[in-house]
Amino acid sequence: MTPSEALHKYYGYTKFRHQQEAIIQNILQGKDCLVLMPTGGGKSLCYQLPAVLLPGITIVISPLIALMKDQVDALNLTGIPAAYLNSSQNSGEQQEIISNLKSGRIKLLYLAPERLFSSESRLVTFLKSLPVSLIAIDEAHCISHWGHDFRPEYLMLSHFKTEFPQIPVIALTATADKLTRQDIKDKLALDHPAEFVSSFNRPNISYKVVAKKDSFGQLLNFLNTRKEESGIIYCLSRASTEQLSTDLRAQGYNADAYHAGLDTSTKALNQEKFLRDEVKIMVATIAFGMGINKSNVRYVVHYDLPKNIEGYYQETGRAGRDGLPSEALLFFSAGDAFKLKRFAQVDGNEDQSRIMLKKLDDMVKYCQLQTCRRQYLMQYFNEDFPDRCGSCDVCLTEFKKFDGTVLAQKALSAVARLGQRFGTNYVIDLLRGSRSEKIRPEHKQLKTYGIGSDVSKADWQRYIAQLVSQNLLQVTDDDYPVLKLTPLSDNILKGNRNVEFVFVEELEDTATPQTPV
Ligand code: ADP
Ligand code: ZN
Repeated sequence: MTPSEALHKYYGYTKFRHQQEAIIQNILQGKDCLVLMPTGGGKSLCYQLPAVLLPGITIVISPLIALMKDQVDALNLTGIPAAYLNSSQNSGEQQEIISNLKSGRIKLLYLAPERLFSSESRLVTFLKSLPVSLIAIDEAHCISHWGHDFRPEYLMLSHFKTEFPQIPVIALTATADKLTRQDIKDKLALDHPAEFVSSFNRPNISYKVVAKKDSFGQLLNFLNTRKEESGIIYCLSRASTEQLSTDLRAQGYNADAYHAGLDTSTKALNQEKFLRDEVKIMVATIAFGMGINKSNVRYVVHYDLPKNIEGYYQETGRAGRDGLPSEALLFFSAGDAFKLKRFAQVDGNEDQSRIMLKKLDDMVKYCQLQTCRRQYLMQYFNEDFPDRCGSCDVCLTEFKKFDGTVLAQKALSAVARLGQRFGTNYVIDLLRGSRSEKIRPEHKQLKTYGIGSDVSKADWQRYIAQLVSQNLLQVTDDDYPVLKLTPLSDNILKGNRNVEFVFVEELEDTATPQTPV
């Protein structure tokens, strides 16, 4: 049977996706490989299909015992004999699987990593007595400290190559930057592996970062137009997931919390309700999401700053698996960055601290971008993305620049003529020639009285704020805030220097995602 025939026979699909075919060919030739494919890209098929075509057994390492049963059931339904061994089974069940393995009735065996190489476990000795054809390591980034989901038990997988030196290994992950990829290859001792990296771009997800001010109010604003939609809100701490979900419920939202500290049955229940759309909003720590395949998540909010781009990207990737427009919204504050910086210092491990700080720094840079966010994300994962995406908040923001020299001269001279003793509102009233009683009669005689009457009050406020931010004016707190000149003002008043105003004009309130092609 050829790979294409097997694809059709067992899965009913007509075409391979991404690089599936090349990956499968590589494995059939007995070579190691590292596969990076976004979530939902079709990684499972890359080892399941060779498992059918190869003569012996394929061992699959997967971190989530909870998901093994589903995967194995699904395989058995398609006619591929599969089984799993884990701690949830009694010894009778385990014995039955062992005898099926011995008699060659099983093609795929799923295992959790912790059991494999532990000293009391004779499992590895048993596995060596079987005709093993392939070893597949799912969620391979869990082996790396540099990854965002390190699992110590994965380190034991480094014994595979010594125990099974002739057997090809396929390592798969949906998230790994350059450093993590190298670490996976090193730790698993892969032998000149071929690397297959699929495009990570998710064109139906739009990215937006807002400055965190009144975060709860901002969140309510966002949710207000999305009441019927499913979403995930990630928080940094367990306590804040509970607080926020309570606060949201008090506002009439259908929200639940999820974090690693909840007991197993609550976790399972909350997750199940979210999957069945009985709960619309899951307020969670990053413990939530791995292996959860809900297709209609319309938005992912990061209420707190994520620790690194890898985690952030994987979490946002849980939105829009159905390909429909979806949103990723992040609340950024310098305070969060500061807090995470302290967490990133690992006692006694300088290398690791340095790397975690660098990753945090890249995350902060992302939040402060003045260029396309998608481009930055793609470059982070070493993918070329030459053009701006047109659908992130930066791309949808227009910066309006214009010559503000004359406006600046008017404002500065008004401040000067008022003896640098008045606040912004008074200066604006003077510029606009206000007839109000509040303007002193002698000020109505000034040359600057009314020279800015063609500009609205709101615009003057923006211009003056801009002059303050360019350090051409300053606000000092005497008894009340007073506008004063600065050492730079003189050059403007004398006409020696021009002033450029730069304003951000949001085209739309929230980024509208482009429709995927
Ligand atoms: P991943 O493990 O990368 O997150 P899966 O292996 O679960 O993704 O695949 C996601 C979905 O895509 C599954 O429903 C799978 O059956 C489907 N799929 C995989 N390969 C193909 C293909 N070549 N053609 C059509 N559908 C596919
Ligand atoms: Zn963009």
